[in-house]
Amino acid sequence: MKVIKQYYNNPYQQDLSAKIVNIEDNKIYLDKTIFYPEGGGQPGDRGYINEIRVIDTQKNEDQIAHIVENSNSLKVNDEVILNLDWSHRYEFMKMHTAQHLLSGLLYSHFKVDTLSVHQGDLNLTIEIDRDEFNEDDCYKLEDLANKAIIKGSSVSYLEMDKKAAEKLDMRRSIKVDGLIRIVDIDSFDQIACGGLHVNNLQEIEKIMYVGFEKIRKHYRLLFRVSDKVSKTYRALDKIVKELCTIHSATLETLVDCDKALLEKKLDLEREVRTLKKDNTNYIINKIINNRDSNIVCANISNYDFDFKDVEVDSDIVLFLYKIEDSNLKWYLYLGGSFKKYDFKTLRVNVLSLIDAKGGGRYPTFQGRGDAINISKCIDSLVGYFNE
Ligand SMILES: [Zn+2]
Repeated sequence: MKVIKQYYNNPYQQDLSAKIVNIEDNKIYLDKTIFYPEGGGQPGDRGYINEIRVIDTQKNEDQIAHIVENSNSLKVNDEVILNLDWSHRYEFMKMHTAQHLLSGLLYSHFKVDTLSVHQGDLNLTIEIDRDEFNEDDCYKLEDLANKAIIKGSSVSYLEMDKKAAEKLDMRRSIKVDGLIRIVDIDSFDQIACGGLHVNNLQEIEKIMYVGFEKIRKHYRLLFRVSDKVSKTYRALDKIVKELCTIHSATLETLVDCDKALLEKKLDLEREVRTLKKDNTNYIINKIINNRDSNIVCANISNYDFDFKDVEVDSDIVLFLYKIEDSNLKWYLYLGGSFKKYDFKTLRVNVLSLIDAKGGGRYPTFQGRGDAINISKCIDSLVGYFNE
């Protein structure tokens, strides 16, 4: 038995009595329904069958599966009452109609095709057949769409066979057979569509362009629709006001104020970097100056500095290491006459004791290793160069 799709007869209907014709686990099949199944970038409807929550609606071949939280209290042939989560549905009807308006305007004013669409909880995403799209044009598109909403064209439907529909030369080819349902929005869009739309563009209230993403060479334009627009404006206003208070700035001086702070931060970071480097080399020089041989090994775990800051200019072997938890970081400097030693041989004969990973080029080498045999490794290193 074919399910009666009451959402096409009246997309504004919010409740309906229907009969259960089949149950498969948590999927309920009915003789008629007001629940729209997921498709065309529009999510499935939610709501209630009697008191039981419908969490999603999906197409299952020719049937419509109402996915409920728990089907235990329902049985085939039960007469049930359907209640739609109307705010969820109406949001998506508005968003979907907004997408028609935007895609229609993109096609007629900018010669841009729509490749795919997605209706998210927050954003409406339209992927276009372009690898770039001028932001000024995005705002022009937003203005054109909002003017159309104020004008308030009605949305109507035509039904015809495929041959007749193809003669209309619509912006998208027809992918289905049989009787074709065409949505017609005044001069803005005319296209075969099985989705749900509002009756008049005025119901969309407002469209806001919020940005773009570039994915796989295509632009995706992001919009917000209806009351999400005023929510976004208010959220932005709140953020700007808070930033103005934090920076003691006005709306006009906020950006300059922020740029100046960023510049100051970068200056301070540069200064800290220089001081850290100076401090590193002060400590290294102290270690080197107190040496009693030219083979210097030191545990620098207590010092906060990077090996890359170490600057040595001396005829010595300097082996520094840090132990963090049981991980070892090591640094080796082979200066002056010690450059004659082959690092690869040294690694095999000595640094293998700490399972050294890493490398470098003369005079500096560094890497990671295992801390367990560090004392043995130091003894071996001193012995190696004193041979
Ligand atoms: Zn549609």
